[in-house]
Amino acid sequence: MPRVSTKPVDMDTIVSLCKRRGYVFPSSEIYGGLGSAWDYGPLGVELKRNIKNAWWQANIQERDDVVGLDSAIILNPQAWVASGHVQGFSDPLVDCKACHMRWRLDAIKDGKCPSCGGEVTEPRQFNLMFKTFAGPVEEAASVVYLRPETAQGIFLNFQNVLTTTRRKLPFGIAQIGKSFRNEITPGNFIFRTREFEQMEIEYFVKPGEDEKLFQDWLKARFNWYLNLGMRKENLRLRQHGKDELAHYARDCYDVEYLFPMGWSELEGIANRGDFDLKQHSKHSGKDLSYFDEEAKQHYFPYVIEPSAGADRSALAFLIDAYDEEEVKGEKRAILRLHPTLAPIKVAILPLSRNNEEMNKQAKNIYSMLRKSWMVQYDDAQSIGRRYRRQDEIGTPFAVTIDFQSLEDKMVTIRSRDSMAQIRVPIATLSDTLKNKLDGEAIEVLPVGGVMWKSEEKAGS
Ligand code: ATP
Repeated sequence: MPRVSTKPVDMDTIVSLCKRRGYVFPSSEIYGGLGSAWDYGPLGVELKRNIKNAWWQANIQERDDVVGLDSAIILNPQAWVASGHVQGFSDPLVDCKACHMRWRLDAIKDGKCPSCGGEVTEPRQFNLMFKTFAGPVEEAASVVYLRPETAQGIFLNFQNVLTTTRRKLPFGIAQIGKSFRNEITPGNFIFRTREFEQMEIEYFVKPGEDEKLFQDWLKARFNWYLNLGMRKENLRLRQHGKDELAHYARDCYDVEYLFPMGWSELEGIANRGDFDLKQHSKHSGKDLSYFDEEAKQHYFPYVIEPSAGADRSALAFLIDAYDEEEVKGEKRAILRLHPTLAPIKVAILPLSRNNEEMNKQAKNIYSMLRKSWMVQYDDAQSIGRRYRRQDEIGTPFAVTIDFQSLEDKMVTIRSRDSMAQIRVPIATLSDTLKNKLDGEAIEVLPVGGVMWKSEEKAGS
C-alpha cells in the first residue's frame, strides 16, 4: 500500500515514537543521559537484528564469493599506524572564544560560532579515535585504540581467510560490529553517535577487473535498500568529487538517503586500490600479496569496500516507513516496515480477555506461531486500540480470535497496510501467514519501491 501522507516526517516525531513504543531510549537516562548515546529497546533491538540479518543473508548466505568474520575491536596499535588512522583520522575543529562550544570547521559560517555568534579559534586537528590502555600500566607503550571502523580487522585476516578457505579472486570478507569515533558534533538522533555498528565488506579483485565489479557492487547495494521497501525517491547514489576522494581511492560513491535534515550518507562504497594490503605488508613485514595461479604472478589485489551503518539504516528505514492517515476522523500512525524488518510479525488478539475458552485457543495459536516468528500476545483494551498500537509499531498482521472462532475454528487476519480482513481456518493459519510474510503479497512498484498488495488485489 503506497504511503498516504505526503508530508515528510520530522525527526521529533520519530524520536518520540521510538521512546514511547520502546524502539530507542536515550542512554543512561536516569543519570541525565550521555550526549548522543542511545539504547535500543525491545523493538529497536529486533529491528536492528533484522537489518543485520538481512544484510548477512544478502551478502554472505546468498553469495558464493563472500565469507564472514568477527574480528577483535582492539587491535595491535600498529594496525592503525599502517592504516593511516593514527596520523590522519582527524577532523579540523574550532572552539568558540565566547561560549566555548566546539565545532567541526565545516559547521562554521563567516568565522562565527553558530550558537552564539562569537569569534572562533584557528582550526586544530582532532583525532577521532578513542584511546585507552591495555593492562594495568597507563603508559605510552600500553596505548590501544577502540576501532573506528571494522575494515582493518578484515585486512589483518586476509591471509588467514585465503589459506583456510582456498579462495580465488574475486572474493570478499564481511563483518558486522561496533565501531567508535569521538565525533565532535554527534547528533540527529542515531544518525551520528560516538558508538555505532557497521556492516562492512572488503571485496578483493584482480587489478583491471575492479571497475566492472565496482559497478556491480553499486547496483547490489542500492537494490538491497529498495528490496527492503525503501522508497526510490528517497535514495540516491552520489559520486565523490576529486577533492573528496582519499589520496589512494580510485573511486567512491555514497548511497544517500533523504533524511529530515537533507540528503546524507547511509553507506559509502569505495574502490580503494591496493592501498590497504600494501600498507599492512609494509608495516608488518608479512607478504600479503596474492598468488594468481593462472597468471603465475604475485600481486596485491584491489579492494572494493561497501561500508554501511546499521544504526543509520535503522533510522532511514523507520523514517521511510512512517505514515499517517485519517480513519473515521481519527489519526492512524503506521510504520509500513517491510515484513522482513518488522520487529513483531504477528499480533495475537483475543477479542475478550474474560472468556476462558477463547483465551485458551488464543494461547494455543500464540505458542504455535512463536516457534516461527516474533509474535506478540495482547488482550488489553479495545480491539481498535490494539490494532492502532500494532500499526504504530509496524506489525504487518494481526490475528483476531472471536466468539465465532470457538465454533468454526477460524480466525481473522487483519493487514496493517490495507486494514482488510480475511477469515482463515486455524489449521492453515501458519501457512497463510508464512506466504504473506515471505512476500507473496508484495509487489514491486514501477519506481522500484515495494508495496503490499491490497487483500482484494491478492485475490483472497
Ligand atoms: P560521515 O561523513 O557521515 O562522518 P564517513 O564518511 O566518515 O561518514 P565512513 O567512514 O564511510 O563514514 O563509514 C561508513 C558508514 O558507517 C557510514 O556510511 C555510516 O553509515 C556509518 N557511520 C560512520 N560514522 C558514524 C557515526 N558516527 N554514527 C553512526 N554511523 C556512522
